[in-house]
Amino acid sequence: MLPSPLISAEAIATRVAAMGQEIARTVPAGDLTVVGVLRGAFIFMADLVRAIPREHRCDFLAVRSYGDATISSGVVQITSDLLLPVEGQHLVLVEDIVDTGLTLKYLLDVFTARRPASLRVCALLSKPSRRRVVVPVDFVGFEVPDEFLVGYGLDAAQRFRHLPYIARLPADAASVGTRLG
Ligand code: 5GP
Repeated sequence: MLPSPLISAEAIATRVAAMGQEIARTVPAGDLTVVGVLRGAFIFMADLVRAIPREHRCDFLAVRSYGDATISSGVVQITSDLLLPVEGQHLVLVEDIVDTGLTLKYLLDVFTARRPASLRVCALLSKPSRRRVVVPVDFVGFEVPDEFLVGYGLDAAQRFRHLPYIARLPADAASVGTRLG
């Protein structure tokens, strides 16, 4: 049985539309590149870029986070890098969820070294109570409690990504959580 919504598809759509407007308005004028972090951000990215009423480029990178199923180690491998150069671009990094912040910290260090004109972070979800490092999250969709969530791109062992809403991981699927991104 599919889990029931914690954050509905309608609530997500409303919030994503507002975030798109905010990004278009607040990122400085110039070349804008929106970077989706795969795989968790793929659905959010697809909706978000269509909500940004300003010309921009889209690019993606894929990451793999080492550690066990539920604890992020902060050791991240970029398994597929961007196609476009970053230098001089206003970058918006699009994440599914910021949990401990370790993955984001790693990515911010990598991208800062590539000398973008500016670097902002947009996350659909944030779990502030779980943070282990201070990371700036400029645009946050929803702050959520410390629970393992699935849907709208977020998975548990590749399951549940297709849900059009965010849900708690069902108890009978709780042993299959994964952090492959
Ligand atoms: P962090 O390094 O911030 O601890 O973890 C970031 C990554 O862990 C996210 O991009 C996501 O892939 C995974 N993650 C963290 N919390 C959750 C969650 O509640 N559900 C799912 N499906 N993945 C999560």
